[in-house]
Amino acid sequence: MRIEKIDVEDYEAVYKAHLEVSPEKENIAIIAIYDTSLGPALGGTRLWNYDTEEDALEDVKRLAKGMAYKAAAADLPLGGGKAVIMADPEEKGEELFDEYGKAVDELDGKYITAEDVNTVTKDMAIVSRHTDHVVGLEEGLGDPSPITAKGVYHGIIASLKEHEDYDADNLEGLTVLIQGLGKVGQTLAEMLLEDGANVKGSDVDEEALEMMVEKGVEPVDIEDVYSEECDVFAPCALGGVINDETIDELKADIIAGAANNQLERREHAEELKEKGIIYAPDYVINAGGLLAVYNELQGNTLEKAKKDAEKIENRLFQMFEEAKEKDITPLKAADIYAERRMEEAE
Ligand code: NAD
Repeated sequence: MRIEKIDVEDYEAVYKAHLEVSPEKENIAIIAIYDTSLGPALGGTRLWNYDTEEDALEDVKRLAKGMAYKAAAADLPLGGGKAVIMADPEEKGEELFDEYGKAVDELDGKYITAEDVNTVTKDMAIVSRHTDHVVGLEEGLGDPSPITAKGVYHGIIASLKEHEDYDADNLEGLTVLIQGLGKVGQTLAEMLLEDGANVKGSDVDEEALEMMVEKGVEPVDIEDVYSEECDVFAPCALGGVINDETIDELKADIIAGAANNQLERREHAEELKEKGIIYAPDYVINAGGLLAVYNELQGNTLEKAKKDAEKIENRLFQMFEEAKEKDITPLKAADIYAERRMEEAE
């Protein structure tokens, strides 16, 4: 394993690691640290078959910056970073994560890793042979998705408080449409059903949908999801779902869900504001998973992580209020909040 620092504007540090998987084979990993003024940069390791190193660098930069904002907006003493390993998911093996673990350890805890797309707990266990700077292990707090769902639930409550037509204390009669009934979407649906809300849902996975229909979710066809009548639309499947095509179809008054990068472009936040639709910034409302991972790092209990996820409600509400006061989008208010925290910590 060989690691070198590369110069990247606006980023605290970016490293390129040469993972010597065998005498004939090397894989590249790029670790990007956007900011550590609030604490060590925590962010997962994504394994992806990028076409070029430039593509990998662009992706890791975007993801690392996103993590910095997410941690700062969640009031965590954490910075933001992310790593990508350029490899075909089919060819991932023990040697690769052995080498990668050595690379993470070289950074002396400035970067803490975790699982991400195409990496799992088992891979992180291999990484942990070489470094302590890894979270999301078997013996930890387990799957963070229920905590993410709890945070999203509280984000929906904050959005209802903000909207004058709704009563956040009584969800009976409220209709929430959840796109994606996976790990987060299922728990979210259960919480809302328990409160007496009408829950509609869609999923490409018929089994996942069927399971939730049995629990009381009303099924919606994949292609009808954007034009379906509802009060709250909760994207919990994919990014980019709010885009030029879908934005005019939406019937919801509130968009509040777990998916990352829900807006195809930042301008869509402006458009939603003009339409009077409340948008809960994705990186604020979906921070529950990060809160769970942070609590695991601290050796805290699941209960503590749940309590932290509840606080998303108040924080988001404050951001909505600030947005209203300054006549800016909630997304801009969230960015200002996160940037202020990073600047004050410098
Ligand atoms: P998941 O993979 O368990 O669930 C996603 C579900 O969406 C799956 O059931 C899948 O079949 C479904 N789906 C895919 N394409 C769809 C489509 N076009 N229409 C409807 N359904 C579709 O993932 P998850 O862990 O529940 O996460 C959901 C989203 O939240 C993801 O975007 C994820 O990045 C984000 N997120 C998750 C966490 C977490 O803790 N799990 C934390 C932060 C953000």
